[in-house]
Amino acid sequence: MDGGVSPEGDAKSLVGMSRAELAAEMAAIGAQPFRARQLWHWIYHRGAVDFQDMTSLAKDFRAELAGRYNLARPVTARAQVSADGTRKWLLRFADGQEVECVHIPEEDRGTLCVSSQVGCTLTCKFCHTGTQRLVRNLEAGEIVGQVMAARDALGEWPSPQDDRQVTNLVLMGMGEPLYNYDNVAKAIAIIMDGEGLSISRRKITLSTAGVVPMIRRCGAEIGVNLAISLHAVTDELRDQLVPLNKKYPIAELLDACRTYPGATNARRITFEYVMLKGVNDSPAEARELVRLLAGIPAKVNLIPFNPWPGAPFECASDEAITKFSDIVFAAGYSSPVRAPRGRDILAACGQLKSESVKLRKTEMLRGAAVT
Ligand code: SAH
Repeated sequence: MDGGVSPEGDAKSLVGMSRAELAAEMAAIGAQPFRARQLWHWIYHRGAVDFQDMTSLAKDFRAELAGRYNLARPVTARAQVSADGTRKWLLRFADGQEVECVHIPEEDRGTLCVSSQVGCTLTCKFCHTGTQRLVRNLEAGEIVGQVMAARDALGEWPSPQDDRQVTNLVLMGMGEPLYNYDNVAKAIAIIMDGEGLSISRRKITLSTAGVVPMIRRCGAEIGVNLAISLHAVTDELRDQLVPLNKKYPIAELLDACRTYPGATNARRITFEYVMLKGVNDSPAEARELVRLLAGIPAKVNLIPFNPWPGAPFECASDEAITKFSDIVFAAGYSSPVRAPRGRDILAACGQLKSESVKLRKTEMLRGAAVT
């Protein structure tokens, strides 16, 4: 299956350049400064995939651009749609590396979940991506490219102002966004630009396992909403589930949350808590969670564990989840249980990619061409 434009030769990609870089690029080839603005509009507002479609540019200039640059997005290696409308794409970049990207439609919004790295260094024990080694960081253009590929697949060009299918963005896919800070920050600036993809800061949430120094930087420089993958209320347990905790323990992490700029009751920090049977799902732990969050404008997202083959955990029972949620709710925190989405397609993040790697390895063993 093919659903994108592959980068060709060594043409430079314009997708992922900041406005300043695009202006410098145009200046370097002797084009007028307003050309950069026109290109920006064609790329990020109109979603052009071919320079020939840029009808406000002179034909010979279009040809010149086509000779020098490309507008590459990742190629859709696989696509799945769930009965509930959730879509999952396996996207392949120019070097053959792949990541997952998910669109979750809801009544009043549509959320796109994008990846920031191929693989991950964190080895969180319940996470399927945690079993994959880090291959590399994604470039800014590859992060923006996921949004563009989703817009392509959903037929959502030119960038609509109302009735959008992609209203919200979460950096909650594969990888740790704060370990790829520069590319993530650059990508977010492009995605927020009002004359382009135009997803506002308030509709973007960055999820981190807790890279404390970078949380501070993210607050000062990017200012998007923050989600923290907490998952445990004692350092002893969190050291095991989220090994990054050994470096940045719970107290330090919560301190960074307390001082996160822009965290108000209207813009709460989300604490993600994956419910693992007999591991972190007791009422005592719910009460301890409430105690820990005191003074932080917070909401709690209880996530039923998505099992994957060989996972060392089971999902907590419905009863345990309800009890836990009731305690958190009674303390004044919104604590929705994130409804399991797309259960009929592969569920756990990272699984589609692993399946694909397995498939490709089998194809290679059979001597089949791998594209
Ligand atoms: N590294 C970042 C972003 C990726 S993980 C972070 O840790 O936040 C995104 C979210 O998915 C995290 O809250 C993570 O804990 C959760 N998650 C990962 N694997 C899961 C699984 N098998 N079931 C349920 N949630 C999972």
